[in-house]
Amino acid sequence: MIPLSKVKLDKDDIYSVISVLKSGQLAQGKKVKELEKKFAKLCGVKYAVAVNSGTAALHSALYSCGIKRDDEVITTPFTFVATANSILMVGGVPVFVDIDEKTYNLDPEKIEQAITKKTKAIILVNLYGQPADYDKINKIAKKNGLIVIEDAAQSINARYKNKKSGNLGDIGCFSFYATKNIMSGEGGMITTNNKLYHEKASMFRHHGQNPDKKYEYHDIGYNYRMTDFVAALALSQLKKVEKITIRRQNIAHSYTKAFRNLKKLITPSVISGRTHVYHQYVLRILKNTRMSRDALRKYLDKQEIETNIHYPKPLYEFKHFQSGYLNKKIFLITEKIKKEVLSIPVNPHLKDKEVNYIIDTIIKVYE
Ligand SMILES: *Cc1c(COP(=O)(O)O)cnc(C)c1O
Repeated sequence: MIPLSKVKLDKDDIYSVISVLKSGQLAQGKKVKELEKKFAKLCGVKYAVAVNSGTAALHSALYSCGIKRDDEVITTPFTFVATANSILMVGGVPVFVDIDEKTYNLDPEKIEQAITKKTKAIILVNLYGQPADYDKINKIAKKNGLIVIEDAAQSINARYKNKKSGNLGDIGCFSFYATKNIMSGEGGMITTNNKLYHEKASMFRHHGQNPDKKYEYHDIGYNYRMTDFVAALALSQLKKVEKITIRRQNIAHSYTKAFRNLKKLITPSVISGRTHVYHQYVLRILKNTRMSRDALRKYLDKQEIETNIHYPKPLYEFKHFQSGYLNKKIFLITEKIKKEVLSIPVNPHLKDKEVNYIIDTIIKVYE
């Protein structure tokens, strides 16, 4: 089976962890600090705070920005569940807005009509690895006094004009989960230029403790600390970020070139001024084609090619998010796209031979 994602550690990855294990300094220490410094540099921000998952990063970010009970937070329904769960974690109310048909990110044209007196923030997800429309959305946020939170779990190293993902809103959140472009099994990072958000996030991950005085607590906090051996693995991975990004982009370009002229198949569109880091390579299979999306998925499985659907159910379909959003008519694009998307393997460990096999197999179906 050609896998959708694959964890493959090299010698450097493994020895970097072993050397921390041998040192005896396992909990948060100097490796975490080094990772934060290098990660901030990659994103072009002043501060980075390491935590133990992307979800912990989102929770900490919302807390640090001061999102509280009953505050409304606008976000996309077409994302991984953790994006919206983090809003519930601080007692906020997720308000879902429909997506853009080209990038599958939040549609800026539909944001303003969802803003109320209670709206405090917008969480943008750079879905599949391409940044959302930050110029337009930051402008709307500024006009309405809203905080922009970037869920950058899928977009490490992506660019929007002259800025890197993690530096596109007020605060950014990353994940180092095993399938992400840069990974350490589990892990996360918060990025910001805001000193207050940085201080609050640092305390929140460490029981709310005063950084200068042990056993003095400012507020509720959690244990969201990253361990030093996880940080060592993330650091070793981070050295390869450029190589990994380019390999993913090259595979994606081969796919797009091969599939571009097939009617009924839509390849990812990359908007001018943005780069796509292809956490997922997502095709759309239109209706009334020779082989439907679900039939293609079964066929590819038989041909030993793993695929998946990101995501089969928009978040407003789940009971714990339903807060008066049962009218699916306002989610026309999400409702359409969820039936068309199919993610095919784009992991950097694919061999050229495997990429060509995937291309030939799909072309045979639709040519
Ligand atoms: C992976 C992911 C997360 C959650 O990250 P974890 O490290 O698994 O907690 C959040 N948002 C998006 C968009 C993701 O892809």
